[in-house]
Amino acid sequence: MERDEMPADVVFVGAGPANLAGAIHLMNLIEAHNAAIEAGEKEGDALDEPMILVLEKGSEVGAHQLSGAVLDPKSLTELIPDWKEREDFPVERYIEREHMAFLTAGAQLNAPWLPPELVNHGKPIISLGRFCKWLGEIAEEKGVNIFPGFAGTDLLWEGETCVGVRTGDKGIGKDGEQKGTFEPGMDITSPVTIIGEGPRGYLARKLIDRRQLDKDSNPMAYEIGCKEIIELPEGTVKEGYCLHALGYPLDMKTFGGSFMYTMGGDQVCIGMLVALDAADPMMDCHALLQQLKQHPKIKSYLADGKGKVVKYGAKAVTIGGWGSIPQLYTDGAMIVGDSASFLNPMRVKGIHLSMKSGMLAAEAAFEAMISGDASAKTLKTYKERLDASWVKKEMEQSKNMHASFHGGLPTGMVKFGLQYLFGPGSSIKPFEADHTAMKKIKDYYSSPALPAKPEYDGTYLVDKLTDVYMSGTAHEEDQPAHLKIVDTEICATICREEYGNPCTKFCPAQVYNMVENEETGRQEMQVDFSNCVHCKTCDIRDPYQVITWVPPEGGNGPEYHQM
Ligand code: SF4
Repeated sequence: MERDEMPADVVFVGAGPANLAGAIHLMNLIEAHNAAIEAGEKEGDALDEPMILVLEKGSEVGAHQLSGAVLDPKSLTELIPDWKEREDFPVERYIEREHMAFLTAGAQLNAPWLPPELVNHGKPIISLGRFCKWLGEIAEEKGVNIFPGFAGTDLLWEGETCVGVRTGDKGIGKDGEQKGTFEPGMDITSPVTIIGEGPRGYLARKLIDRRQLDKDSNPMAYEIGCKEIIELPEGTVKEGYCLHALGYPLDMKTFGGSFMYTMGGDQVCIGMLVALDAADPMMDCHALLQQLKQHPKIKSYLADGKGKVVKYGAKAVTIGGWGSIPQLYTDGAMIVGDSASFLNPMRVKGIHLSMKSGMLAAEAAFEAMISGDASAKTLKTYKERLDASWVKKEMEQSKNMHASFHGGLPTGMVKFGLQYLFGPGSSIKPFEADHTAMKKIKDYYSSPALPAKPEYDGTYLVDKLTDVYMSGTAHEEDQPAHLKIVDTEICATICREEYGNPCTKFCPAQVYNMVENEETGRQEMQVDFSNCVHCKTCDIRDPYQVITWVPPEGGNGPEYHQM
């Protein structure tokens, strides 16, 4: 097939905070370099009209971004020192009051003291979608070319050197045949490809697998996060408030937590996080979020249930920490942000770490542009810079947190508390991939009674399909399903018997449904892929590892913007 080829100097895959910060920093380095050459302060050639590209699979920058988010502005201050003075900085509120709490079924027990790392007072509450849109505009002003609606679907190789990225074809029907609207994807060739596609990145996995970049690290570990924005009656929200909580509605065996932040106007965002190594095969983060909203204290923050859900989203969150970071570079390519596990699980914060990883990768890319050598020898300076930066210091402190909580909340609190007080030790404790921890129904539930379905009222307590509508998710229906199940016979037989089809519970968008085959009377898998909010949970948690998430047509998926 004939494909257009577009050469670039550096191509960033994914317009999240890591890559946008990286692209802005790279342009700053190029500007400073060119100015120094022009002033005669430096020898060498100017980098004239550099072609720096950013690809984004969402319909626009920010459309697929979702996070808490209380921002630690450390990296932002390094990148854009006057961010706070800029009138267009998209802050929702600044934190004025906060609590870290343990929720029992009826009460909120506030921690009397917070370790300094967990204090958020004065930090900005942001919508990650709006924040990325703002960073994207700054990048474009500096001359970065951003292509929204283009999913990276393959890496280009010369031998074992990555030489760019292929974008997805558009206009393929569900039968796999080209439609009248067919447009082949482009080959973007570049000496340096920087992959920052968010958690469980599709191309990041391909790169890691091909070059065995994770052979010396722990597997990546994840939580699923489900988040809603709730609109409250006018005048309800008066201050920047943030609550982080452990406990209810989770049991003591399952790691996770919840959060709530006030946003601009009378909106509040509320979210639930559950580790994807949860042993419970019926774990359903969306149902737990609805349960959380019925907690008396939480309900009292939300105008006693008079609020209305107006936005919804879900996403995997990387919680493996420092020990899950793979080798970050290979010939021609680097991995940044959540795709490489840049999140501090103790603080449940990663935007600042992701941004810094993107900026340090940009410095290695700049060196490659100057020297003309984009081999691993040059790009490994990205890792050297990381090791010398505050990122390593911050992430090392919680490097064994995930392994500590594997046995449940009480033992995890003790083990991690000791590590916090006396240091995490020199070694990184190993752990297995999340999907290996799920127990079979008969081993987890002693009685055949499975959890009851929550009651919904359609406005404050909503079912999955109503929430999918709130996420703005849309996919072209006439295209091959982007959730690939290699053997649906497993779903109808052994998975049904052993685990009760857990994907029908853990998927936060009701993509997976067991429906009766009219001829055989057997329950079989139906994949409603157009509901998919791109959280990647199925790709991670499926106990048989038969599900693979691949990018659908560029521009398809959720429309988060405000999340
Ligand atoms: Fe998430 Fe998979 Fe469900 Fe899509 S199908 S929403 S990626 S769990």
